[in-house]
Amino acid sequence: MNQIEAANLKLQVNSTRRMDLAEIKAKGRWVIDNVFYMGGGWMYENDVLKPNFDAGGYLIGTMTGHHFFSCEFCGTYIKEHITIRCVETGETMNIGNQCINEFMIKSSESIMRGVESLKRKVDSDYRRQIHNEQLRGWLLENLDKLEKLHHEFIDNMVDEIKQRGYYEEQVWEETDWTPQEVDAWYANPENRGRTIAPKRARWVTVQQRPVNIKTRINFRGEEEAIEYVNPKFDEHIRGLLAGKNYWRKTNEKYQKIDWNPKTMLKSFEATVEQYNTQLIKMPKLRKLTDEERLEIGRKQQEQISLFLEKIKKIQEQGLEIRI
Ligand SMILES: [Zn+2]
Repeated sequence: MNQIEAANLKLQVNSTRRMDLAEIKAKGRWVIDNVFYMGGGWMYENDVLKPNFDAGGYLIGTMTGHHFFSCEFCGTYIKEHITIRCVETGETMNIGNQCINEFMIKSSESIMRGVESLKRKVDSDYRRQIHNEQLRGWLLENLDKLEKLHHEFIDNMVDEIKQRGYYEEQVWEETDWTPQEVDAWYANPENRGRTIAPKRARWVTVQQRPVNIKTRINFRGEEEAIEYVNPKFDEHIRGLLAGKNYWRKTNEKYQKIDWNPKTMLKSFEATVEQYNTQLIKMPKLRKLTDEERLEIGRKQQEQISLFLEKIKKIQEQGLEIRI
């Protein structure tokens, strides 16, 4: 085959695909009927096509249409199958998500995005539930040890602060302008409509002591030091001691409310790390079993079917209005 012949053949193939599409579209209006996912190894058992679980085969959803494994329009191998149906003739086709937009199905892009996000949501909700249960179990199992360690940790911290005589705090320090400076700033036409910012603002480390010392100028014009009780210090110690029930409170809430297990584990790890102990073994969020993965597939199928049923109803109603 020479180059011109090859180019002609290519042109012919391309134009044929376009012509196919024109023919398919001319049959009438197409709607999305079903979405399902299949991948990995498959086999025939008594003439029935089934996923081969040993070879990583899987099916999410219900197989519909007559053509599997590849897109019925472009022939590409696909895992995500969309069964579209011609409203006028009832004919169906299984195509991939790359081709769906070729068929100009109203809102097809949004529908597919909806299916995708639903699939992800079912998956993450299920995983979250399993990992929350795992972490709840770990908490209950270790609660006494964790509480004891935390009490020791807080008591040590309070002792240390009392011995040292202060705790350190980051304070946002702003320096004020004098009234004269403020007047001058607002008098400047360039600053019309603007709000005056602090002269200087920064984080500074302050030592908070039970008793603070301030200097003042007395009536003789001499600098003199006066002591005053710092209420912040006592408050801080009280706050630390109140935090002793951290694990008990966390456990009480966590047994009732679902949280994000990844965030929870990170926060548990950070707290336990402070104890510097070998007594507590931190868990790893476990992998799902094959049965659990199948269960996710079943739940996804259920939810996707419900969603598509709803969409179909809306689409068909739309058709009635059009008449
Ligand atoms: Zn395709």
